[in-house]
Amino acid sequence: SVPLSFFGGIGGASKAGILIKGSNYIERLATIETLVFDKTGTLTKGVFAIQKMDTTMDQEKFLQGVASVEQNSSHPIAQSILKANHAPLLPVTSLEERAGYGVDAVVEGQHYLVGNAKLLEQAGVVFEPVQEIGTVIYVAIDQQYAGYLLIADELKADVATTMSELKQTGIKQTVMLTGDNRTIAEAIGNKIGMDKVYSELLPADKVTQLEKLLDQKVAFVGDGMNDAPVLARADLGIAMGGLGSDAAIEAADVVIMDDQPARIPAAIKIARKTMRIVK
Ligand code: ADP
Ligand code: MG
Repeated sequence: SVPLSFFGGIGGASKAGILIKGSNYIERLATIETLVFDKTGTLTKGVFAIQKMDTTMDQEKFLQGVASVEQNSSHPIAQSILKANHAPLLPVTSLEERAGYGVDAVVEGQHYLVGNAKLLEQAGVVFEPVQEIGTVIYVAIDQQYAGYLLIADELKADVATTMSELKQTGIKQTVMLTGDNRTIAEAIGNKIGMDKVYSELLPADKVTQLEKLLDQKVAFVGDGMNDAPVLARADLGIAMGGLGSDAAIEAADVVIMDDQPARIPAAIKIARKTMRIVK
């Protein structure tokens, strides 16, 4: 039978905004050594502002086409583009969302690629990657480079403080795994004091990288957009409850109800206190 104090631990955590799905996860949370974070939607808000559009096309038309391509995607990047567009969305006749790359779609007979540099490179589109501080979304239409959007994401509240609190609680290592580009990933990693940053990872690369860390007890914190397999592979999966996808919430062992990573240090402390009472 489950000792009564486990329920106290689950209750205490839930008051602190953390849903723990079972008493066995309290024990895991108490003994985590490495905390691995996804970036977009996890450390950052994932609700972006479009900072710049660089295209030789009419800007409104460019944004309308890109937004039309993104209309069925639930990725935070898509949501940001859709928010910025005010023109009517055009019908999409063929659509493929490619995790970790972007979207491939046909709009009014034109073949669009909207995503990172890898997406265009793979398709053999000739273009010059740009150096910008932010997430760059490249666009090709009918195999011709058509321009890019620069989007600036914002860190969630108190993320840097959270990283130092984790260290104070005895977490040995903090790591970021992201599909985004190296420039932005390292800038954010340095700013918040992350021990290690791995960038430009496809969903499968995230799993491979996580597996290399499994000599210690590892928790992965993600929003489920392109990282559900990593959530499942970690010793403990922690998902965002608000922004997170249903699949992520389902796959996770622990859910942060208000999406704030700042809740994690308190959750670890509650878990450890519960374990001391149980033993
Ligand atoms: P993170 O690991 O930071 O959470 P993702 O793995 O979700 O990021 O996405 C990695 C990259 O793939 C993004 O930075 C973006 O360049 C590209 N991408 C993914 N989904 C989309 C989309 N719907 N539209 C455009 N680009 C996308
Ligand atoms: Mg993400």
